[in-house]
Amino acid sequence: MIPNTVKIGPVIYRVEERDVVSKFAGRAGQFESVESVLAVCSRLTPEQKAKTLWHEIIHAVVWQTGADRGPGISGWDEAIACCYAAELLQLCHGIDWRHGPPPATVGVCGVTYTVSVVAFVDKDDPAIDWDADLSEGWIALRSGTPGFVMSCFLEAVLDLADDYLHLKTPRDQRGRLATRFHQVLIDNPALWEGQIPAERPSAHKRGRRKPAPDKAA
Ligand SMILES: [Zn+2]
Repeated sequence: MIPNTVKIGPVIYRVEERDVVSKFAGRAGQFESVESVLAVCSRLTPEQKAKTLWHEIIHAVVWQTGADRGPGISGWDEAIACCYAAELLQLCHGIDWRHGPPPATVGVCGVTYTVSVVAFVDKDDPAIDWDADLSEGWIALRSGTPGFVMSCFLEAVLDLADDYLHLKTPRDQRGRLATRFHQVLIDNPALWEGQIPAERPSAHKRGRRKPAPDKAA
């Protein structure tokens, strides 16, 4: 089940399920900034709906930050919407984003990372809030308030996904996005309180080629 509304920053977006999302054929979802609507195709499976909703949430977050309107950034927002949507959907369930703690292990792009909360990530530089190692498979977070630790956790996960998928999101940009995504999770517990929707049967992934919903909008 997807929620009826999603609060993103100061705006409450209406989630609309439609048989046909837009005049652009084959779209699985659409972000409509003027109407404050996140449209999702009603004919999708529950898992596809949830992923498409995250895709459109990411578009809305990026649009609000203006990060999609810089020079040389064309197509980047679509890439992160496609890639982060899958990761955030997998990630968000089963974790209390308001109070923590982060899970002991987390899967990012198919790799499992151990997560530890430590007094100092780097004794030589106590100001470092988090670190993550792609090859060694760990995330270290500096201890602090639940909000601080969970925000660092989310940024570390996005950093790993970014590295893994070669998205090349500028570091300051990613930090800002992580903070915004965290706020979306805090404001919308319906996104993480329920069960994760069932995965599609693998035949859909590899066999029959349907139009990829992620790429459609
Ligand atoms: Zn899109």
